Amino acid sequence: MDFLTLARNYQNQMIKDLQELIAIPSLSDETKATPTAPFGPKIREALDWMLNKGSADGFDTLDVDGYAGVISLGHQAESLGMLGHLDIVPIGEGWSVDPFGGQIKDGFIFGRGSGDDKGPTIAAYYAMKIIRDLNIDLNKKLMLIVGCDEETGMRCMKHYIEVGPIPDMGFVPDAEFPVIYGEKGILVMKLSGKKHTVIKQMRAGERPNIVLGKCSVEVFGKPKEDELRLFCRSHRIKASYKYLTDSTIYTFEGKYSHASTPQKGQNAAVYALNFVAAAYQDEAAADLSRLLYSYHGTGLNIEFDGAHMRNLTMNLGIVHITNTQFDLTLDIRYPNDVDFDFCRKNIEQTLKNDASWVSASVIAHKEPLFVDPNSELVKTLHDVYREVSGDDFTPLKTMGGGTYARTLPNFVAYGMAFPLRKLPDFAGDAHQKDEAIEIESLIMATAIYAKAIYKLAYENA
Ligand SMILES: [Zn+2]
Repeated sequence: MDFLTLARNYQNQMIKDLQELIAIPSLSDETKATPTAPFGPKIREALDWMLNKGSADGFDTLDVDGYAGVISLGHQAESLGMLGHLDIVPIGEGWSVDPFGGQIKDGFIFGRGSGDDKGPTIAAYYAMKIIRDLNIDLNKKLMLIVGCDEETGMRCMKHYIEVGPIPDMGFVPDAEFPVIYGEKGILVMKLSGKKHTVIKQMRAGERPNIVLGKCSVEVFGKPKEDELRLFCRSHRIKASYKYLTDSTIYTFEGKYSHASTPQKGQNAAVYALNFVAAAYQDEAAADLSRLLYSYHGTGLNIEFDGAHMRNLTMNLGIVHITNTQFDLTLDIRYPNDVDFDFCRKNIEQTLKNDASWVSASVIAHKEPLFVDPNSELVKTLHDVYREVSGDDFTPLKTMGGGTYARTLPNFVAYGMAFPLRKLPDFAGDAHQKDEAIEIESLIMATAIYAKAIYKLAYENA
């Protein structure tokens, strides 16, 4: 079966459909929410477009309360699903083309959502069409689920999990090839306590998942110029200070990064605490620096190197210190070899032994995603990717971030960015200006998805 040819036969229709879908500015607008359009009228319009398309093509469709939709084929007991999304992120600035125009230039289609995730969703849809054209007896029901709130909290899938039909396994075309089979667990914890301190005020960060690239701390008393100079030199960072009437504000320059990759950043708040501890002999700051100095969580005794996902990471993302009250929020990402209890117990025990004035509480928790790389699902998806793309080199992956795949059990992320087909400079990536998708990649991904369905849902494949 030559799936590339089958996909190419649909090329013109796919381009036309993608252009129509890009033309719907499906941004969330909850000020205009209604019971059937929980994320506003434009996302509702995109959902209607997709479901109408499905029923016009003869598939079964299901509207899951405006949170998501399902386009399905067959009524078999077992099911194979694909999960994409129709909502987009705001346009931003600096576009050289109409973000809703679907313009084609040098083999690319431009528009907000073209790569994330309307193009990949259209690829998954046409893969289902190609399979239906074959008129074969499938052993699994096929389901394309389209979510409406991937970009602003994934509430679509929280609702879907409660009311919608859950496929037994599947994949998500909203990341990269070959297969992302694991994502770390994410634990957000708050450390709180009261203790006498020289810090008058320290406030930084709004989200736990951002490495603090800049941080100011106001300390009672005159500036400690020599200590600051020495500290900056030995830590190779930049800092400045401003003397007020009875206090000094120090500002430390680190480097922003996402909390899933703290090694790419430099946490300015950790440096600030470290400096206050050293320069002022402040006991509270010293306790906290000892607990938080390492983004591997060494100070909290949660350091762990996982077999598949490598190191646990820890990021200090929000700091609120006033008077004697300390509140610090941490984003901890742990590999699948350990669990929530490992993190919680070790942190509690460490605090009890080393800083008993600090207590820890859980703010949020997401289980890791892990599908055995030797499972039939992952092996088949990987084989199909290799066969169609010719890329034998790129290994399977795990990551620290949270993709859409973790919202459903037994789902992995599968494309549709091709690691060996880098975007040229004129084409923007997901969430960037001039977002674009390569037509050839769209065809290849469609062929890959169709072949994957064929192998996973057809006995005689
Ligand atoms: Zn996406």
